[in-house]
Amino acid sequence: MSPSHQLPKNYDIEEVETRWQSTWRDEENYFDPVSSKPQFIIDTPPPYPTGNFHIGNALNWCYIDFIARYKRMRGYNVMFPQGWDCHGLPTEVKVEETHGITKNDVPREKFREMCRDLTLTNIEKMRATMRRLGFSTDWSHEYITMLPDYYRKTQASFLQMLKAGDIYQSEHPVNFCTRCETAIAFAEVNYAPRTTKLNYFDFDGVEIATTRPELLAACVAVAVHPDDERYRGMKGKRLTVPIFGHDVPIIEDVAVDPEFGSGAVMICTFGDKTDVYWWKQHSLDLRKAIDRQGVMTATAAPYEGMTSEACRKAILADMEESGILKRQEELEQRVGTCWRCKTPIEILSERQWFVRVHRDDIMDAARRVSWTPEHMFTRMENWAESMEWDWCVSRQRIFATPIPVWFCTACGEMVIPAEEDLPIDPTVDKPKAPCPKCGGSEFTGEKDVLDTWMDSSISALHVTGWDGTGKPPYFPAQLRPQGHDIIRTWAFYTILRAKALVGSHPWDEILVNGMVLGEDGFKMSKSRNNIIAPEEIVGQYGADALRQWGAGGAATGSDIMFSWNDVVAASRFQTKLWNIFRFVMGHLEKGADPEAPVTELTDRWLFVRLSETVAEVTAAMEGYQFDRALRAIREFAWNTLADDYIEIAKGRLYTDDSSRDSACSALRTTMDVLCRLLAPIIPHFAEECYHNLAGRSVHAEAWPDFSYTDDEARRHGDLLVKTIAELRRYKHDKGMALNAPLGHVMIYAPEPVDDAGDAGRALNADAHWSTGTPRLEEVVSGVDFNMAVIGPTLRKQARGFMQAVEALPPELLKNPPATVTVDGEEIPVPPASFTPKVAYRVAGEEVDVLTLGDVVVTIGHQP
Ligand SMILES: [Zn+2]
Ligand SMILES: [Zn+2]
Repeated sequence: MSPSHQLPKNYDIEEVETRWQSTWRDEENYFDPVSSKPQFIIDTPPPYPTGNFHIGNALNWCYIDFIARYKRMRGYNVMFPQGWDCHGLPTEVKVEETHGITKNDVPREKFREMCRDLTLTNIEKMRATMRRLGFSTDWSHEYITMLPDYYRKTQASFLQMLKAGDIYQSEHPVNFCTRCETAIAFAEVNYAPRTTKLNYFDFDGVEIATTRPELLAACVAVAVHPDDERYRGMKGKRLTVPIFGHDVPIIEDVAVDPEFGSGAVMICTFGDKTDVYWWKQHSLDLRKAIDRQGVMTATAAPYEGMTSEACRKAILADMEESGILKRQEELEQRVGTCWRCKTPIEILSERQWFVRVHRDDIMDAARRVSWTPEHMFTRMENWAESMEWDWCVSRQRIFATPIPVWFCTACGEMVIPAEEDLPIDPTVDKPKAPCPKCGGSEFTGEKDVLDTWMDSSISALHVTGWDGTGKPPYFPAQLRPQGHDIIRTWAFYTILRAKALVGSHPWDEILVNGMVLGEDGFKMSKSRNNIIAPEEIVGQYGADALRQWGAGGAATGSDIMFSWNDVVAASRFQTKLWNIFRFVMGHLEKGADPEAPVTELTDRWLFVRLSETVAEVTAAMEGYQFDRALRAIREFAWNTLADDYIEIAKGRLYTDDSSRDSACSALRTTMDVLCRLLAPIIPHFAEECYHNLAGRSVHAEAWPDFSYTDDEARRHGDLLVKTIAELRRYKHDKGMALNAPLGHVMIYAPEPVDDAGDAGRALNADAHWSTGTPRLEEVVSGVDFNMAVIGPTLRKQARGFMQAVEALPPELLKNPPATVTVDGEEIPVPPASFTPKVAYRVAGEEVDVLTLGDVVVTIGHQP
């Protein structure tokens, strides 16, 4: 009997994981505000409550949970909060679909209520998945951005930045999605390749090439390069816009590319960012030809009321008819699209609210944060350098934090609430005092609402205890974990806001994770049908297997491909570990003095290896290299513990020898340490084993502080492991069963080795260690012919040649003569035609000899 009788043979994942999940208490993971331990606050990402906690979230949260659990074991007072970033268009759209309405069909507050209800339902679904994955979330620090307690702070932060001059309103060109009918920030514009037509047409005698003919009504100038000879002296002249008939000036600007088309470009308000630049640079007129819905305005009469797409066709047809359209060419271009709905964005000039981007301040703060992986900092830097406009924070939507501002109907004065009156909805609530400028009492509430990033960019302040003023008590947070796809938004904006509101960087460190790709290597998407839901993985292999995949699938920061093979391998590793654990428990149950010292060579050698593993895993966890940590644990458990140690030491466990206690102590300590190393990554499995071993929770234990050095044990143990492996291979090559008796084995090593009889038991041999060298007697016992040489060279004489060689004395077999006599004829001995068979004897006993470096092993043939 070796495996434990008390532990089930099979590890029932579902049973074990759900049992521990219902045993663990939320309170065990709460941040303790009065603790004297050092704080470790994690500014976790608040996901958008879609109702679906997807595998990308799962990876991100695995990393967070590994860290939270590890830091708790390292003695930190950890806060692992859970936020929900609720506001935004996808929920509005879902509500419209579900109720068959549009947002304008019901009062604003009613519409918000519908959005809130949907959001709460979705949050509940996602919470259930998170719990099933075994995350050690601090649910006492949950926040929901749509609820008054949170958006009060968003509004307070808005007012503080407004008062400080960091927020202003202005009529300025902004990126606008005409489908979502809202302004969006640059960070929300994606660029996609598109094939379009470049249209060459006659513009009052000048050839112009354009991809946006529908913007002709918005044309405010024609620009040429100052050095372009073709347009020498044209500067200041005016041209008449075809079809529409208004005059526009010719201007010169070095940014015009003379190589493109005819070298003359039309400037419209606004076709792209360059138009905005020229418009500002040359103080040009503003002609709005497209409205917020993407419909042509009166400026574009006679095309007024058409969609921009219809207008484009109509204008091209009209150009063709009047003979001014000269030719069309295909053109590849990159077009900016809305990140939510992929509609090409328009640049519209609108009154909007902006947050001032103080680029240098933000980068100063970003540099004070430690970035993992380091190269992610470059992404932040590149983004900051590419920012040309301030951050547009107003949105023309409903389900969002209201901008807490009124305007006096009589004099237009902006009126703001006192911060203690927040939160407010200016479209419902009224100011408490008359207009300070004119005494008027009629007000219009600001209808625009805030960009959702205005909510989530104060998460670091919120989790560090911000009440809406001053410096939060726990500021800065220690760590921000997040995906690389939101560096230019969430990371950038959080740093901006922390700098503006508190004057400093929001966290000590940022850890950036990669994206999860489908098994086919592509981004997961419905259209590719390569989406894997966490529930699917957990249902088949359990949370711990998914967590192992998350830890081991890729280096932190790299994109990670989902792989069922990795999940299966993870679950096999657990089966292997369970078998090891049952074996160990079986022996401990038979009785062993738990205080017994570890004295024997193999046991001390295991401790040396365990100590190295603890150092490696600790270093990996400190650097957030979870793949490296898991690899070290797997190598130790699988190779060192199972394949080497247990195979060598197990014979001793079945003896009544006092050296058995040493092995039991070594195994008890090793399992204890191993459970702790595994606790952050596979918390259910580690808990199940540790509870059986120690009778308490592994998650309340300290990280193993196990350090053991023993140079002799390391040297001799390595020798022992190598020798036994070599002798097992010898048995295998001889066709012997691994437990078959091997006879008399002498191991000649440079130093005296005391293996407590482990080698003998492991090999089923009468094994002895000896120093010095064996007195080997070499005996030639026969000859091996090389027929590949003999056959072709000697043909008919081959048989006679072989007889002649066999008749040679042993010395000549070792040093072949030049010729031999075959049928009375001297024939030359072909090189490499034979080798002597050599046998060895020690003290008259015939032995096999193995040489392993400076170790020689002799194996006697008689048992
Ligand atoms: Zn859109
Ligand atoms: Zn007024």
